[in-house]
Amino acid sequence: MTTYNMQTCILCQQDFRFGPNAYDGRYVRAWDDMICRSCDDGNHDGIVADDSFLARLDAKGVTPEINDSGWVVIPSRGS
Ligand SMILES: [Zn+2]
Repeated sequence: MTTYNMQTCILCQQDFRFGPNAYDGRYVRAWDDMICRSCDDGNHDGIVADDSFLARLDAKGVTPEINDSGWVVIPSRGS
């Protein structure tokens, strides 16, 4: 039986596998937090952020980038 490391997605608050051998999300440096793949892949146009998500970012001192639609931009890989 493989024991995976689990991380919690900052957006949907679901746990996802983060190694070894299975990485179902990534670290977003700009947010200093983790995002799962389904959120990452499903929100290319931005996130319609709810208050609890914004509060989690604010608690970290992070001000998210907002696009022209008023949605939170997910920082790209490597940023
Ligand atoms: Zn998620």
